[in-house]
Amino acid sequence: MAGSGTQVTYEHVVVVGAGVAGWCAAAAVAPHCRRLTVVDRSGGTSHAADTVDLPARVQRALLALHDGLAPLRTRPRPTAARRGTVGALCAEVSVLPHVELRLAADALWLTGDPAVRSVEVMTASGMERLRADLVVDAGGRASRLPTWLAQLGHAQPPVETRPCRHGSAAPGDDGEHPTAHRRLRYDRLCSVPANVVAVGDAIVTLPGHHAVGIAVAGLHATALHRHLARGPLDPSCWFATAHRIGDAAWRRSDTSSPFRLPVLRGLGRGAAAT
Ligand SMILES: Cc1cc2nc3c(=O)[nH]c(=O)nc-3n(C[C@H](O)[C@H](O)[C@H](O)COP(=O)(O)OP(=O)(O)OC[C@H]3O[C@@H](n4cnc5c(N)ncnc54)[C@H](O)[C@@H]3O)c2cc1C
Repeated sequence: MAGSGTQVTYEHVVVVGAGVAGWCAAAAVAPHCRRLTVVDRSGGTSHAADTVDLPARVQRALLALHDGLAPLRTRPRPTAARRGTVGALCAEVSVLPHVELRLAADALWLTGDPAVRSVEVMTASGMERLRADLVVDAGGRASRLPTWLAQLGHAQPPVETRPCRHGSAAPGDDGEHPTAHRRLRYDRLCSVPANVVAVGDAIVTLPGHHAVGIAVAGLHATALHRHLARGPLDPSCWFATAHRIGDAAWRRSDTSSPFRLPVLRGLGRGAAAT
């Protein structure tokens, strides 16, 4: 039930994951579909991200997503959260009449050949098939998309990793962090099935300070919004764009020194052009 003047491209979109990237992507997709379901296997979503100071470029991206939702509102905008934060976006998207949030719903696999047509979800009442003409994987580092691609007979994306020694050190932490920078090179795949894309940490995980992951999630969503304005997504084209956005952060996040805020300067310029 997109707003007047907006091109409705999809009947039903399923976003897998109600984290930062999932909510940002939902805000980008909401104007372009009649129905949007956000599923998350956990029991609730957190907005710890709202405590992070975001660079001005990313705040502007989130504000643009807010503005895109204006024609869809059927009631006053929720005022609890500050505009330009992920929490505010989540609050605004989740009250839209064509949006449903399904918690404790674990997306297990995709079906469809050659294009993805549905996502199979395990809920408290059993397996459920959600028909979808677009699935957006925002499953974070735990994303199952590589496995799903293999199950559909496609190659899995090459994985690039490098150690992350700085991470988000807790007080008393020696700075060692078990996680690594990791990115999945969907942009290098020769074939990607239609109707499925990924965003955020599902593509590139850069654990660390200074809002890098949240910045990437926000910039992925604004790029998604721009791609959708042109019509149905071309997954190969999408993954090329998403890679460029993540790559800006990846190349600037050196492994031997902590992230510095200038890391984010320029992040998103490539996105603006895509
Ligand atoms: C220790 C640590 C500290 C960090 N500190 C910062 C920081 O200070 N600033 C910053 O910007 N970033 C930080 N990051 C990175 C930031 O947390 C991530 O970039 C960001 O949370 C990614 O958001 P996401 O939505 O892509 O993934 P996630 O936040 O991981 O969300 C994924 C969601 O998908 C759900 N999900 C996954 N698979 C399925 C499935 N199959 N079915 C249904 N639901 C599913 C999960 O339950 C989860 O809710 C940090 C990361 C770590 C590990």
